[in-house]
Amino acid sequence: ANERESMYLVSEFAQKHFSEMLWESELGKAIGLSYFKERGFTDETIKKFCLGYCLDQWDGFTKAALENGYKLGYLEKTGLTIVKEDAQNPNTPKKFDRFKGRVMFPIHSMSGRVLGFGGRILTNDKKAAKYLNSPESEIYHKSKVLYGIYFAKQAIAKEDNCYLVEGYTDVIQFYQRGIRNVVSSSGTALTPEQIRLINRLTKNITVLFDGDAAGLRASLRGIDLILEQGMNVKICTFPEGEDPDSFAKNNELEEVLQYLQENAKDFIQFKANLLAEEASNDPIKRAETVRDIVNSIAKIPDAIKREIYIQECAQIMNVSENVLFSTLAQIGKKEV
Ligand code: ATP
Ligand code: MN
Ligand code: MN
Ligand code: MN
Repeated sequence: ANERESMYLVSEFAQKHFSEMLWESELGKAIGLSYFKERGFTDETIKKFCLGYCLDQWDGFTKAALENGYKLGYLEKTGLTIVKEDAQNPNTPKKFDRFKGRVMFPIHSMSGRVLGFGGRILTNDKKAAKYLNSPESEIYHKSKVLYGIYFAKQAIAKEDNCYLVEGYTDVIQFYQRGIRNVVSSSGTALTPEQIRLINRLTKNITVLFDGDAAGLRASLRGIDLILEQGMNVKICTFPEGEDPDSFAKNNELEEVLQYLQENAKDFIQFKANLLAEEASNDPIKRAETVRDIVNSIAKIPDAIKREIYIQECAQIMNVSENVLFSTLAQIGKKEV
């Protein structure tokens, strides 16, 4: 088998091993499985998403993989094992499990192959990263995958809409609640490749932001990339302290659907209102703000939609349509 195929096989073994530890080892049941249950995940959900646990030992997984004939080189290439020189023993480097002591979220390709993992720490150690991901490799390119896409693709096409959330647990909790057209970029800024994956299934994206609102302004910039691909974008935020995971855990399906229905706002309108509020009394800021919103509108390929948005934004921001149209024309010239 070629190199990539060997990396797929070792990743698949890892997924099975982590699931076995979760369901069958005493420590896995006591620590990992009870963690997922406390989060409200059912057995069926835990199995569906192939969740697992990596024992809190230095090399429990690595040993099992080597015993089963998987080569150290591929364990290292997929990042599942970290290999370090040992000064005392130059001929036998030390081997560590990257995900030691973490609950495991396998990341599947569109066609269902395991490409990599996210692992969540279970302690409150503020020094360690809450989530750890597989490193970039020949099979795992984080800019090209969306967590959950394998489980969501049919529902995205059928509903003709895709919910985009921030984290793994948001995807899983939505799915369990009955909203299956949901994927996550898992903490990284959205990329054009990720948007293209969705674009093949639907032209409609609803972006759901955690209620902490940290980085909401910064994240809004990334959304221009979705407009550029000619897609329709809505934005929905959650109440302070809530994210889609906690909201779906604590509310019935009807309530979640109603919340989304009532709070999902057209992206351009959302942004125009947000900016208008922030800059209302400051003329310089208002000027910047007007340019900012026209920049977003300029990304929309459809001229009719651009015109309609210009009319709306003129009202929201209390400026003339003419000034917005001439700003739009300037931006258009710069890009050519
Ligand atoms: P949880 O509910 O398990 O505490 P979350 O999914 O709500 O986690 P957020 O803090 O909202 O986590 O972050 C959203 C996503 O960003 C995470 O699901 C994860 O993919 C990524 N992320 C968060 N913290 C880190 C980190 N320290 N390192 C790498 N990725 C992270
Ligand atoms: Mn967050
Ligand atoms: Mn969150
Ligand atoms: Mn959360």
